[in-house]
Amino acid sequence: MSTHSTEQSSYPRADVDPPSGQLFPYKHLLGIWGLDPTAIKHLLDTADGYVEQNRQAKKSTAICNGLTQINLFFENSTRTLMSFEIAGKRLGLDTISMSTGTSSIKKGETMLDTAATLNAMHPDVLVMRHGDSGAVKLLSEKMDCAVINAGDGRSEHPTQALLDALTIRRRKGSIHGQTIVISGDVAHSRVARSNIYLLNAMGARVRLVAPPTLLPCDVDRLGVEVFHRMEDGLEGADVVMMLRLQNERMQGAFLPSLREYYRFWGLTREKLTVAKDDVLVMHPGPMNRGVEIASDVADDLDRSAIEEQVEMGVAVRMACIDVLTKDLRSGDAS
Ligand code: ASP
Repeated sequence: MSTHSTEQSSYPRADVDPPSGQLFPYKHLLGIWGLDPTAIKHLLDTADGYVEQNRQAKKSTAICNGLTQINLFFENSTRTLMSFEIAGKRLGLDTISMSTGTSSIKKGETMLDTAATLNAMHPDVLVMRHGDSGAVKLLSEKMDCAVINAGDGRSEHPTQALLDALTIRRRKGSIHGQTIVISGDVAHSRVARSNIYLLNAMGARVRLVAPPTLLPCDVDRLGVEVFHRMEDGLEGADVVMMLRLQNERMQGAFLPSLREYYRFWGLTREKLTVAKDDVLVMHPGPMNRGVEIASDVADDLDRSAIEEQVEMGVAVRMACIDVLTKDLRSGDAS
């Protein structure tokens, strides 16, 4: 019997059967949705090797020498952009980053022109972040190279979910069977959505804890348990992932006040007492201290994995670039 709790979800699986036994049979990494669990495991296993490499004095390899990576970010980013840039450089790619204001290029004709322009420069990897859900997929259809989604609107942020999964697997030994709470502004969070897909695919029990106004309208179809009181949702939890209020994606008022939000939904030491003693606290960043998380919880070295998540981010992004360029490299060798 399958142990994947995606069976709980009423969404159709968009899996493709891995052709010819390939461990990662996809051209792009556009989302977690539809990835075979074997492919997810392969990415995590590959990333594990890079964690060790990144802890050595000499961190670079030349496996991707001669390849070109373009990072195209239409939204602000600190962790994701920097770690993709470091990841590319550590693998030996020529890495170029371009950040654009959200208003300069919009979906539609202009986006396709952008794709044609970039494609003409023959990159081997394109990493893209955009404020509109679906924009990265749209662009990928016009590109010859591998495209990695670095976050699109409120849709997906696959490398964040992978780095979160790697953090959990290394700290807890496994993802399967863990009770994992995702709490806060789930409705506007691409991090939550990618994590729900991945954690379900790997057999975790996923709980969402949020006020009703901050839950997505398709929550019943996500294969998760829903709680509206933190004290209930945190009971016996192995891991708690806190989310930022994504004000930039909110249209209208979703909360009475930040003070009230912190009182009911902020993660404090007191609220954590009902979780397991060794509960792991996570946050994708950027954090709003005193809004969704108390400073003493975020900085608690015994429980907080927030800096470790950043470290795992570089390794996971190296793994993604590695597996997506494998065919290209083996073609060169022959
Ligand atoms: N950095 C994450 C993202 O790009 C989370 C956040 O912004 O709150 O979605």
